[in-house]
Amino acid sequence: MPKVIAVSNQKGGVGKTTTSVNLSVGLAMRGYKVLLIDTDYQASCTVALGINMEYDNRSIYAALVDLAPIQDCIISSGRKNLDLIPSTQHLVGAEIELVTVTNREFILTEKLEVIKPLYDFIIIDCPPSLGIVPVNSLVAADSVLIPLQCEYFGLEGLEMLLDTIKIIQKRLKPELYVEGILMTMYDEESDLSRKMIALMRSNFGDDVFDTFIPRDSDFIDSTASQIPVIASKKSNSPGLQAYHRLILELLEKYNLKKRKVS
Ligand code: ADP
Ligand code: MG
Repeated sequence: MPKVIAVSNQKGGVGKTTTSVNLSVGLAMRGYKVLLIDTDYQASCTVALGINMEYDNRSIYAALVDLAPIQDCIISSGRKNLDLIPSTQHLVGAEIELVTVTNREFILTEKLEVIKPLYDFIIIDCPPSLGIVPVNSLVAADSVLIPLQCEYFGLEGLEMLLDTIKIIQKRLKPELYVEGILMTMYDEESDLSRKMIALMRSNFGDDVFDTFIPRDSDFIDSTASQIPVIASKKSNSPGLQAYHRLILELLEKYNLKKRKVS
């Protein structure tokens, strides 16, 4: 069965989508079968992968509200080993449409059961909000990866997310765990960046990934080129190298490093 990882933080602009996309593409490049699920109605993953079509009837929205079986909502990303369930702006409506459904927190969990055997990893990119759809993502996940900006205000939202995770563990899914806190947008010139990493490590210990992601303008360029940094030809890009290190750190944790070749 695959590892299902939700990439979540209730704050926007912290690197959730960048992490989801680069992690998914990087794992797929190593030969793992990966499904990336875009659950942000802004559909940033879909755009980051260079897919510019409207998928109204084949999207996470369609799957959640039973417009289509989830297996019909999977599209090819155009990259080997990487599939995508895209998002559309209709997803906003799901918040209202699902309110009356019984066991509404478990809709995604149930739907994923059918497609789980097809993948090694399922990565869920979450929106910066908390509603039925994000709660579904957290409940469906084995673990939560939390990107956190190396800035003072980066801590905003972390406490809220950790409280949410505790509530989900208590009421809906006791096995949910924190995969790790990933420090993003690290600026080596900045004292604050260094202090933030030290502060997080002293407070959260091993829950903070050894790898941190540097601030790198290549990420901004990749939005325009629609080629994820990890798949770019700039092998000396600090951002590219950092996401490769993150993947190795994850695989090592799962003891999978030697299993696959790409
Ligand atoms: P979120 O999904 O949390 O809202 P994004 O991944 O979309 O955040 O990132 C927000 C913006 O910051 C995007 O324009 C992205 O290209 C940029 N970005 C992400 N990570 C980095 C980084 N390490 N260095 C520089 N810019 C980054
Ligand atoms: Mg995003």
